[in-house]
Amino acid sequence: MVKVHGYAAQQATTPLAPFDFDRRDLRPNDVQIDILYCGVCHSDLHTARNEWKSTIYPFVPGHEIVGKVLEVGEEVKDLKKGDVVAVGCMVDSCRTCKNCKDGLEQYCDTETIFTYNSRDRHDKSVTYGGYSTQIIVDRAFVLHVPKEFKETDYPGVAPLLCAGITTYSPLKHWKVGEGSLVGVVGLGGLGHMAIKLAHAMGAHVVLFTTSASKVQDAKRLGADEVVLSKNEEEMKKHVGSFDFILDTVAASHNLDPFIQLLKRDGTLCLVGAPEFPHPSPTINQLIFKRRQIAGSLIGGIKETQEMLDFCAKHHITADIELIPIGKINEAYDRMLKSDVKYRFVIDSATLKK
Ligand code: NAP
Ligand code: ZN
Ligand code: ZN
Repeated sequence: MVKVHGYAAQQATTPLAPFDFDRRDLRPNDVQIDILYCGVCHSDLHTARNEWKSTIYPFVPGHEIVGKVLEVGEEVKDLKKGDVVAVGCMVDSCRTCKNCKDGLEQYCDTETIFTYNSRDRHDKSVTYGGYSTQIIVDRAFVLHVPKEFKETDYPGVAPLLCAGITTYSPLKHWKVGEGSLVGVVGLGGLGHMAIKLAHAMGAHVVLFTTSASKVQDAKRLGADEVVLSKNEEEMKKHVGSFDFILDTVAASHNLDPFIQLLKRDGTLCLVGAPEFPHPSPTINQLIFKRRQIAGSLIGGIKETQEMLDFCAKHHITADIELIPIGKINEAYDRMLKSDVKYRFVIDSATLKK
């Protein structure tokens, strides 16, 4: 067993606190990774506080991981000690169902094994995430950090592993590109990646935000226009115009004001996963222009590598605030106030002291 130090929630109502635990001995296809950085996703907070009613305690969050290979199992031939690698939201799946074969392991028909709060397929142990010094992951779920990224980029690469792929995958699926008019709702971790990626894909990007203080930043990040979503006059100007809107909001809200911005056959894709459901949309808003509401979950492993390569090519990383692990509870409180620019990332060296 490998002794690891991390931070865990012991129950829904207590702050994260130091937690020592064991990682499994290396299996033949395993990669042992020394974690350098781990991003802080709103899903970590939803899960730590049992907002999705499925948390197994103790719970170690973290699924935006960049690290260095320490050791590999005997069957791993294409990675070696010192290689810079990444792990995202999944660490295993059945690998035999149609969805797994299609490279969509996140939709595995049997069971996707997530980086945290899942059970290992073989020994049924609970998976613990990246708020820890090391992680051991099957090679098939380990990504390469492209060589174009320098060491100073690594903190900003970590959030690509969830915020990046969760926005890249639907943008690709709904064929966003040159000539698309794309809306992004919410400027947090996911929203700021959606702006950067849609802009790099050639779309005209409009951000919808509830925070007047974020307007200038959104333009710097690549938004062509910014709309304060609570301003009805501003919203009216955009009715019936969008091909695609990606909603990244982490709280329950009325979808109607965004549905009416879609043109005929346009899609509102929800990636935000709030604790409480959104109020039911007005059905006529959908019927009259054959509009669609959809959802999307992270992205497959092959697509995650493709996204990392795309980001390397376009010089895209996340805008981050690097924090020591001791500031994690404060970071959660700030995330709830939408006070994050635009992703907290844990400096894992602070766990090793
Ligand atoms: P985040 O950094 O906290 O950003 C969420 C943004 O939503 C905020 O910055 C804010 O933007 C807006 N917002 C928050 N509360 C709001 C409210 N009451 N009304 C309107 N807008 C509000 O969170 P994140 O890490 O980007 O995650 C966003 C959501 O996606 C979470 O629910 C998370 O669990 C989910 N998620 C889903 C997937 C997936 O695979 N589908 C993957 C990762 C995360 P403004 O200040 O601009 O309004
Ligand atoms: Zn996430
Ligand atoms: Zn499967």
